[in-house]
Amino acid sequence: MPTRTPALTAWTPAFVADVVAAVIEHAAVYGLHQAARDIARSHGLSPATVEEWVSRARAVQATPVPLDLLACHTCTRSMILIQLPGCGRAYLCAPSCGRTPVPADEIRDAVAAVVLHRTPHLVPTGKTTQAASYALGPIQRVTVGATGTDLHITWRAVSRQITGPMMAMAQRLHLAQRHAAGNKPERAIDVLHSGLLHIDPTSGRLALDTATARAAALLATLAVVLHEHGRQEPAQQLLARTIADHRRVHPHHPAIARMTAVLYRMHTTATGPPGHPTHIATSATPGTS
Ligand SMILES: [Zn+2]
Repeated sequence: MPTRTPALTAWTPAFVADVVAAVIEHAAVYGLHQAARDIARSHGLSPATVEEWVSRARAVQATPVPLDLLACHTCTRSMILIQLPGCGRAYLCAPSCGRTPVPADEIRDAVAAVVLHRTPHLVPTGKTTQAASYALGPIQRVTVGATGTDLHITWRAVSRQITGPMMAMAQRLHLAQRHAAGNKPERAIDVLHSGLLHIDPTSGRLALDTATARAAALLATLAVVLHEHGRQEPAQQLLARTIADHRRVHPHHPAIARMTAVLYRMHTTATGPPGHPTHIATSATPGTS
């Protein structure tokens, strides 16, 4: 643990949540590294401490439930994982609205129980102890009330099978590239799609990693591969969903215009006649509005 700089603010969970939220917001413009340095300086903290707080809050492998699954009942903001020495792991909205942090293990066990009760088929055999990490398959959002068992679950209209829930996006991208190179586009698509489910459609928060943008671009390429193999319908659905997901993460990314053009060509070549108006349903993701 880095040594504490002579700041007067106590390191409470609420303080950590506010710092992490400030870094994430700042990072959308300045990048994660610069954002951590700037916010650290403004609070009299060491950049290493701030980077550690952010990475603990956002590390896919370490979180008891998937990133961005939880929302605070009081303020509706996303809740993040806070880990301070002597406090135990807890979830708190970021920035914090003043509510009491909720023990992370309590939430994980409650989420695991509802997933296993309602959608046991989405948890592979032998993975029941990790059932909470498969929650993004059937669940859109979990709103957390006063305690870790006072949960309001919003189920997805259409459940999806999650592949490798503990995998970070960069690992996912690597695995998908291997599947694609091995001529297994369907498996590559499964791996990437699970990753894009981690994008929170309600917060409008930007993904901080370029791996997510590259994953969306690779998904688009795989959609073209499917299309060329005569699977027009799934290819168009995949591409439309990818565009919608990608737009949420990187609203102004140039790949969106390219993917939309590809989708338009797919529609016009598949559905003719020439000049017939084509509806491109780029926002038609199940379970979102
Ligand atoms: Zn709150």
